[in-house]
Amino acid sequence: SRGIDIIRNPRTNKGMAFTLPERQVLGIHGLLPPTVLTQEEQLYRTMQSFTRQPTDLDRYILLAGLQDRNEKLFYRIVSENVESMMPIVYTPTVGLACQRFGLIYRRPRGLFVTIHDRGHVFELLSNWPEESVKAVVVTDGERILGLGDLGAFGMGIPIGKLALYTALGGVKPHQCLPIMLDVGTDNEDLLDNKLYIGLRQKRERGPVYDELVDELMHAITERWGANTLIQHEDFANANAQRLLDKYQQRYCMFNDDIQGTAGVALAGLLASLRVSGKQMKDHKFLFQGAGSAACGIANFLVLQMIEDGLTEEEAVSRVWMNDADGLVVQDRPAGMSGTKARFAKDHPHLNNFEDALEIVKPSILIGACATAGVFTEKVLKNMALWNERPVIFALSNPTSKAECTAEEAYTHTEGRALFASGSPFDPVTIDGTIFRPGQGNNAYIFPGVGLGAIVCGMRRISDKVFLRAARTCADMVTELDLSQGRLYPPLSSIREISVRIAVATIQEGYDDGSATLDPEPRDKEAFVKSKMYDFRYDSFLPILYDWPEEAGFQA
Ligand code: NAP
Ligand code: MN
Repeated sequence: SRGIDIIRNPRTNKGMAFTLPERQVLGIHGLLPPTVLTQEEQLYRTMQSFTRQPTDLDRYILLAGLQDRNEKLFYRIVSENVESMMPIVYTPTVGLACQRFGLIYRRPRGLFVTIHDRGHVFELLSNWPEESVKAVVVTDGERILGLGDLGAFGMGIPIGKLALYTALGGVKPHQCLPIMLDVGTDNEDLLDNKLYIGLRQKRERGPVYDELVDELMHAITERWGANTLIQHEDFANANAQRLLDKYQQRYCMFNDDIQGTAGVALAGLLASLRVSGKQMKDHKFLFQGAGSAACGIANFLVLQMIEDGLTEEEAVSRVWMNDADGLVVQDRPAGMSGTKARFAKDHPHLNNFEDALEIVKPSILIGACATAGVFTEKVLKNMALWNERPVIFALSNPTSKAECTAEEAYTHTEGRALFASGSPFDPVTIDGTIFRPGQGNNAYIFPGVGLGAIVCGMRRISDKVFLRAARTCADMVTELDLSQGRLYPPLSSIREISVRIAVATIQEGYDDGSATLDPEPRDKEAFVKSKMYDFRYDSFLPILYDWPEEAGFQA
């Protein structure tokens, strides 16, 4: 029965790649078609059926099925075809997959912890069959991409993020654990949806919610150790920064929507400076949206401008924000909460974004408001009027929420925009010139940070880790990338970037004393590489050898 277990286990299964001796030794001969394939031949077959699928959602389902059957093949395919796979495993298709999660749900993946499990979370984690979990991604599903509250359907996000941890960062799959914290949902459609798989109740908030999060953080580190990396993902704005502030010093954790986004946006902006010939402090910024992503980016920009020699007050004065209640100014009727108050200006209140733009006249415009089309033709043309090289980031995901398309950005700025988006856009041709927009995707940053933090046993992760990661990513943008309008390296180089970011993360860990691995590895790059997941299949044949003839036991 050992052989049948091996082919049924996605971690060990290699499909038709079992060799004839393996089939015979394992007692599975005859259970597979006679053909023996190499992993390369399997890749080719899978790519064939991938491209033949009618829709991207079908491609997602195909890949999820592969992940359930043959893990090594799944990760190899994703990691070697990042440009075609990332839009499926991650934004935008993962958003659709979350919305349809009830329909496409097949096999359980990850852990569901509900509000009713309070007091028993450790017992629940003990049911997870892996002894050495090193990276957890947890969401409560309240703000899935820009799609809002998807409740337990949000599980698709931690699953997708962790797939990238392995495919792009080389973190071993058995060390990764996706967790859905189900505290209910306020999404009425889901509560009425027959296919919904989560708790059918309104969201629990307040102290009971906080106690559950607290218990989970504690239980994870009790079960798998104090250095277990915990990534917070797609929490709503009211919880995201609050939980980050609460836990950043106590756990090895970060919030990807705040710090990962800030890191990747800063990387693109740093690269843009090489084109504009300016320093960050020479710029004026306007954010459309003042939530987790925008505030995270703004705080990092301030840190960068302080390094450029500005005082904090001067740096903050260069950053303006606009949100659902208009320009973020002191004494406005709607008031304001949280981090954005730092950027509130002493200015009369304005409720129209196009007017706000004319007041601020920014050189860098960043959208993170999950509202499609707010960067109108007029907005884009004005940016081009005031700036030789206007910087325009439309970060909202998925594609359907982007503030403008790549085509709009280039068309309305006569091709002068330095543009990046959160979800991918195809190249755009204007008057014979091809522009290849970069994707300001957090996947440039978090897999490398996670890998670095895990392999050096980091106790906590400071903001400086992400600043360093941003610089590392920006340094890898080539002149060719820039000449094609791309502020990020091609997606296909993410694995290489992850290794460099992991090295930078480890270096920061030893600089600030948060790395616990002793002794400090001398060649950090070689060390990182030695810890990475190997996509190649294991052999199931025993190693056979003879004893010397003198022993007298020859066959
Ligand atoms: P969030 O915390 O909920 O913030 C959303 C912000 O948008 C809030 O400040 C909200 O205003 C504002 N807003 C909503 N409707 C608006 C409108 N019509 N006009 C102006 N502002 C409006 O969400 P988040 O975490 O910042 O994420 C926002 C978006 O960024 C999402 O689509 C997400 O997918 C995307 N994102 C992209 C990346 C990336 O590409 N690398 C990373 C992270 C997030 P109030 O504050 O007044 O409610
Ligand atoms: Mn997110």
